[in-house]
Amino acid sequence: MHINVNKPYLPDIKKYHQYLDSIWKNHHLTNFGPLSTLLEEKLCEYLKIPHILFVTNGTIALQIAYKLIGLKATDEVITTPFSFVATSSTLSWEGLKAKFCDIDKKTFCIDSKKIASKINQKTKAILPVHVFGNACEVEEIEKIAKTHQLKIIYDAAHAFGVNYKEKNILNYGDISTLSFHATKLFHTIEGGGIVCQDWAMISQAKEIINFGLKNSLPYTLGINAKNSEFHAAMGLCILEEMDFILQERQRIWDYYYSNLKDHFSFQKQNQNSNNNHHYFPILFENETILLKTLHALNNQNIFPRRYFYPSLDTLPFLKNNECPISRDIANRILCLPIYIGLDKNTQDKIIKELKSNLS
Ligand SMILES: *Cc1c(COP(=O)(O)O)cnc(C)c1O
Repeated sequence: MHINVNKPYLPDIKKYHQYLDSIWKNHHLTNFGPLSTLLEEKLCEYLKIPHILFVTNGTIALQIAYKLIGLKATDEVITTPFSFVATSSTLSWEGLKAKFCDIDKKTFCIDSKKIASKINQKTKAILPVHVFGNACEVEEIEKIAKTHQLKIIYDAAHAFGVNYKEKNILNYGDISTLSFHATKLFHTIEGGGIVCQDWAMISQAKEIINFGLKNSLPYTLGINAKNSEFHAAMGLCILEEMDFILQERQRIWDYYYSNLKDHFSFQKQNQNSNNNHHYFPILFENETILLKTLHALNNQNIFPRRYFYPSLDTLPFLKNNECPISRDIANRILCLPIYIGLDKNTQDKIIKELKSNLS
């Protein structure tokens, strides 16, 4: 059996069946059905956010967010090269320029002290990532954005259930986007969310994701990014089991940490913020040891992932300024398997292999 970095969580199947029965009764399969609406309400309640729009995935959520803040071709957006490729590739896909700003070597998030030096007349927005759920320096970033009149979009794909100073992290910036992909902490198989404080912006987004229709007629430029009732049903089931999911992940996370803390370096957690235990990244002394260990684990059918490798500033279709810190971290980081159902024997096997390859 393959042990992967993640295993999508599946909720109580009987509950899912109940939702399917309701779909079979009312024949509402997609297009803002009752389950999608209910999911949006429950997510607002659970996350303590004013508004969320449920969309097809986290990638299109970013693309819609760029439209909502009025970005236009050739505008520049300052972002981090240490993320999943979608953060930057969506900018290029929309004809925008991703301008890379290096990360902090301890937090792995964008280094807010370096943002100002990347700003020019074309700069219109900042796109930071709460990487591995670690909150960015949201207050510093807000100050920079105010001074230079820039918008802020947070790619919060990893930050489900993360608070910053008693407030949900999704309430910072102009817009935050979420991914509800099967491998994420909370998921709807495929799915995503757009979060903002402004109801008018959400209603505009609701038109854009439905081909730009208003009263069934073309009204503005749009795309199709609606999600289905089947996806919403999965989300509703999983949301009910979140307490269990978070507890289990914390238990698995703590076990790794207590066994590995003397042998590896770790991401420095933002002190104003909680850990959602979405990922368990460890930092090796060098790439050679990482590759040797990875090879040994793969031989035992264990497949941690090199999140995030390579640093996005090295990709030929994205590259601009070199970001040496991001490149260094990307070369030395490995995310260990963490998911509900990962047993202690497997964790022990992983821990043993990591320790025996240290030199
Ligand atoms: C998963 C992820 C995305 C993309 O989300 P999808 O729902 O898979 O499209 C974007 N950004 C980050 C940081 C991610 O981890």
